[in-house]
Amino acid sequence: MACACASPSTNASLRFGPKALGKKFLHGHLKSVVSYSVSQTFGGLSSPIRVDYHAYASDHIVRAFKNRDASTTVSLTNGSLKKRVTVLVIGGGGREHALCYALERSPSCDAVFCAPGNSGIAQSGDATCIPDLDITNSDAVISFCRNWGVGLVVVGPEAPLVAGLANDLVKAGIPTFGPSAEAAALEGSKDFMKKLCDKYNIPTAEYQTFTNPAKAKQYIKDHGAPIVVKADGLAAGKGVVVAMTLDEAFAAIDVMLVEGSFGSAGSRVIIEEFLDGEEASFFALVDGETALPLESAQDHKRVGDGDVGPNTGGMGAYSPAPIMTEELKQKVMEAIILPTVKGMAAEGCKFIGVLYAGLMIEKKSGLPKLIEYNVRFGDPECQVLMMRLESDLAQVLLAACRGGLGKISLTWSPELATVVVMASEGYPGAYKNGTVIKNLDEAEQVSPAVKIFHAGTTLDRDGHFVAAGGRVLGVTAKGTDIEEARAKAYDALDVVDWPEGFYRHDIGWRALKHRHMVAH
Ligand code: AMP
Repeated sequence: MACACASPSTNASLRFGPKALGKKFLHGHLKSVVSYSVSQTFGGLSSPIRVDYHAYASDHIVRAFKNRDASTTVSLTNGSLKKRVTVLVIGGGGREHALCYALERSPSCDAVFCAPGNSGIAQSGDATCIPDLDITNSDAVISFCRNWGVGLVVVGPEAPLVAGLANDLVKAGIPTFGPSAEAAALEGSKDFMKKLCDKYNIPTAEYQTFTNPAKAKQYIKDHGAPIVVKADGLAAGKGVVVAMTLDEAFAAIDVMLVEGSFGSAGSRVIIEEFLDGEEASFFALVDGETALPLESAQDHKRVGDGDVGPNTGGMGAYSPAPIMTEELKQKVMEAIILPTVKGMAAEGCKFIGVLYAGLMIEKKSGLPKLIEYNVRFGDPECQVLMMRLESDLAQVLLAACRGGLGKISLTWSPELATVVVMASEGYPGAYKNGTVIKNLDEAEQVSPAVKIFHAGTTLDRDGHFVAAGGRVLGVTAKGTDIEEARAKAYDALDVVDWPEGFYRHDIGWRALKHRHMVAH
């Protein structure tokens, strides 16, 4: 077994991902447990750290850093010494793949696990996937962390957060990036979010909450259309109806309050003022007391070219987003993000994690108003942000867990990034799983600036990638400007051989339009 070597100047030599050992070797369909150890060389010097690898029967490899010197440190670019950390990412979509990719590149990150992960993440070498770890069982996750020396857990999706996974991990003494169940109510309950806005003067649409259908309809009649009806709880992205007529609004009330189609999530509705303007997203890392804004990113929610058709989880994104000027960023921090963080702390509900604010830059006032909060990254936005992040993500997220974001500043690539999502034909409606996807390696080789994130893939018996979800791939590229980033992403898409897949052809059109307006 060859040793993995690295130059001491990179300080990254302790990473023994599938990349270092050879994808093909690691990705075999192993049916028995194999253990072996490697004593590594480090810039020509023999390291005192012995690394044991275990391959287990589920055709996934777990790498363990056993017998390791607990004081193992890495020297960061600012000259400080940091303890290396093993990270567990919870989730298995494009967002989690992007987080794994950034963590794997972090100089202070020893190893990245992803549970459950997916076949594409495992194959890419960006993390070691643990498909059989039950992430709905906090005890199982805690026990995994203890067995494998996990020093940071990053929770991607909202469901485990709302279910209280972060509460249990923090109680067990495991640093966890992601809010408690109570703080996740910022996304889990629109009523909670709106009440916080009322109490702390955070600009948002005028609203009222109802459980009684007759009273709700009377409020709609009094205010007229257009008007917006929202289920209070999580409704898989389907709980918002922007009603252009009274009848549409009444129908939404019937679906939610009379027929109960969303179950308890729709047993309470928020009816709010329709805001006219341009939408923008804003992301900040939060450590309970303060917030650190991220670079801007903007997604395309509608399924079709020209932003038409039903809403999706996001069909593509780009970063930076020209709409989010420095001036606007400052306004959003002062009027929306910081009052939210302070308000949550004052309510005894400190927020730690990502705050993703959906905003409307209102046409009539020119001011940002809060439409909604998500307590995690959006999938496509996370992919473009992680492509551009140059800081050591593991250290940044650990600082957030420890209340230390005030001392952190982030470094970003000056390049632009864009992602085009490939989805299964039929999405966001019914679609077929199991269709074969070919040429992914070839597509990634179109340019070193291209990276394909896997949102929903698995492998068939012959080792081919097959679709396992609505949104399947995030074909991402960087470039010196939006045209170059788009061209590279679309060149890579041309190479992907997946007849049952589709994508939008106009991702980044707003950024392009803005660039042309500035140029002329
Ligand atoms: P939400 O899940 O709250 O982000 O809503 C989904 C989408 O509905 C948003 O991205 C907006 O396009 C639209 N929307 C939500 N609330 C409003 C509002 N008050 N005025 C206009 N559009 C809205």
